[in-house]
Amino acid sequence: MFQSYESTRNSNIFSTSSMAVLQGIAEDGGLYVMRNIEDKNIDIEELKGKSYTEIAETVLSMMLDDFPKDKIKECVKNAYTDKFSSSDITPLVKVGDSYVAELFHGPTSAFKDVALSILPHLLTAAYDMNDLEGEVIILTATSGDTGKAALEGFKDVRGTKIIVFYPDGGVSQVQKAQMATQEGTNTFVCAIEGNFDDAQTGVKKIFTNENLRDELEKRNKMFSSANSINIGRLVPQIVYYFYSYMKLVESNAVKIGDKVNFAVPTGNFGNILAGYYAKNLGLPVNKLICGSNENNVLYDFIRTGIYDKNREFHKTISPSMDILVSSNLERLLYYVSGKDNNVVKNLMEQLNSTGKYEVSDKMKKVISDEFYAHCVFKDDTEETIKAVFEKYGYLLDTHTAVAYKTLETYKNETNDDTVSVVLSTASPYKFSRSVYESLYGNTDSDEFQIMQELSEKTGVKIPENLKGLKDKKVLHKEVCKKDEMEDYVRKIAK
Ligand SMILES: *Cc1c(COP(=O)(O)O)cnc(C)c1O
Repeated sequence: MFQSYESTRNSNIFSTSSMAVLQGIAEDGGLYVMRNIEDKNIDIEELKGKSYTEIAETVLSMMLDDFPKDKIKECVKNAYTDKFSSSDITPLVKVGDSYVAELFHGPTSAFKDVALSILPHLLTAAYDMNDLEGEVIILTATSGDTGKAALEGFKDVRGTKIIVFYPDGGVSQVQKAQMATQEGTNTFVCAIEGNFDDAQTGVKKIFTNENLRDELEKRNKMFSSANSINIGRLVPQIVYYFYSYMKLVESNAVKIGDKVNFAVPTGNFGNILAGYYAKNLGLPVNKLICGSNENNVLYDFIRTGIYDKNREFHKTISPSMDILVSSNLERLLYYVSGKDNNVVKNLMEQLNSTGKYEVSDKMKKVISDEFYAHCVFKDDTEETIKAVFEKYGYLLDTHTAVAYKTLETYKNETNDDTVSVVLSTASPYKFSRSVYESLYGNTDSDEFQIMQELSEKTGVKIPENLKGLKDKKVLHKEVCKKDEMEDYVRKIAK
């Protein structure tokens, strides 16, 4: 029943939504995708007056179609009650002519909280539904924000262990402190001598290691993922697209049926793909606007149809987008190829062997109809933070600033005056140094001092979870080489 998901690379590998959530990734290395999404439709009229959690129930029940409705309701309740500092969960704020959807009011001040607050509940529900016993080991590679959000979400959740790998030196001081001070009896954190792509590749390798998987299975253990390759990460992100739209309707900024643009600071292509899903479920979306930083693989791809990761990796002031292999793009390729698993498999094999592929003209056309892309470098990002603060008194973080500037560029290039929403993915205090320096120039203070100064100067409050961070005890200090990741995992899985 309800085998609604299949591997992007092979239609003979299919799954229920609950097993897809449990497995994280398909056994052939493909990503689970909903096959018949175009048959699903959410009636926007019916969302009128609904709260965030009610809209979440509607979206999740549709996409996770073998979960009983009351289970979904329970998961939503456990995830969002009293965990977010705004009762709206993702409040919508008007800034200039555009709107900003603030996705960062969760326990770790990044948008990843929206999905990672609910994923552990979905996972344990899926576990029970499938009559499994034993332990799920969550493997996660992080460019900084997923790690902490996942640790916080899975902390002390029964039947789970969580292992997080992050690039040593590739995350901000605050991000590192957040992870290194993580409490909980089932949480493990390890820095990798390498960049995010190395961490992600390492994790994928462990996932697809059949020997290891068999060994674990014998001991009633299985791997799963908290990265956005897991459909359980992606689906909860669809919700705020609908919610933001309904907020626009409520404030008479749009009428039901009017189209809206969404501008998204993009790294692994998870957030913006959730927007694509929302559109497929019936949300009136005009353009999905993809902002990249100096690591502008997606910008090149959306404009030319050529994906090429053979280029210099840049460490930027928007580190959560420092990615050259955007995993979720594979899901988009599946849909724009007309669900041709062989095409996807072929492209992914090329990516694996040469680091490069080119899609057909037809696919290229579909992609450029749906998406607009631009890349914003350091100077422009800093200027945007400064200009928006000076003009509107609104403080953007470095990632959100990339999307904001991308939207401005899009508007200038196209004269499109469709109502637009920028998705704000982090509190400015998660990246205090860069935000501070954008406004006031260089400083030698450490990031915690800067946080304080930034708050004093701008009058914008520091989120509670970041305030207490500097006095917390460091509990995780491990560092390992890329090729030692598997040993590290084996040790913990024992
Ligand atoms: C993860 C992250 C992004 C990128 O989101 P993707 O879903 O990977 O595209 C952007 N901004 C922040 C602050 C993030 O943590």
